[in-house]
Amino acid sequence: MVTPRPKKSKAQGRSRPKTTTSLRITRSLKSRAVEVLDLLDERYPAAETELDYRNHFELIIAVILSAQCTDVRVNLVTPALFAAYPDASSLAKASAEQVEPFIKTCGLFRSKARNIVKCAKDLCELHDGKVPSDRRSLEALAGVGRKTANVVLSNAFKTDAIAVDTHVYRLARKLGLSRANSATAVERDLMAVLPQERWNKAHHTLIWHGRRCCKARKPECPLCPVAELCPSQETYPDEIHAKMLAAAARRERP
Ligand code: SF4
Repeated sequence: MVTPRPKKSKAQGRSRPKTTTSLRITRSLKSRAVEVLDLLDERYPAAETELDYRNHFELIIAVILSAQCTDVRVNLVTPALFAAYPDASSLAKASAEQVEPFIKTCGLFRSKARNIVKCAKDLCELHDGKVPSDRRSLEALAGVGRKTANVVLSNAFKTDAIAVDTHVYRLARKLGLSRANSATAVERDLMAVLPQERWNKAHHTLIWHGRRCCKARKPECPLCPVAELCPSQETYPDEIHAKMLAAAARRERP
């Protein structure tokens, strides 16, 4: 028996992840999500990627290098890497061993070196050295998964997408915008609760909040602009609360 193929919905056309989640998407959840995003946008109006890059090639390589590594660390190694290998064609001719010393401080450097060289080869062989602008081609490149593809799609090609990294994953769950336990399902929940035209910026805004306030080890809830809307708000003893306020005041001092 042939199983009838489901009709392609508009949502699938935008390549929504297919995993399921128990979150009920209600109107009130959507409006809380928008309120949260409005407040975070006010706090972080300049939120954008903190990776340094000058073109699509540098972006995709920097994003591959940023896996399990900070953007600051990636930005320290990429100037020398891109001076030696300024485009896909030069990187494709290198061996992983030649590339390793440039990225040694990035963590997982051996597999990353293999991946970026292979990715450069794929770009040359399949796309004339250019970074493709569609998800399927991007995800077929070595070292590129859904998150990296989303970062490239949204930053390089302004395609609506939410890349779920460790900060976005944590924030979405803390804020009650997802209960899912996979990046793909969190992405789907965020796409369901946030207006599509805000997906690209939302990704950066959540990351900035995760780095600056809602830190994994000790979220600074007393300083958080969305504390009133957050089901995970933590309270601290007066002394720690006062220390957080003092540290924030010092950070803001010119
Ligand atoms: S209230 Fe606390 S847990 Fe909630 S988003 Fe803000 S910093 Fe994070």
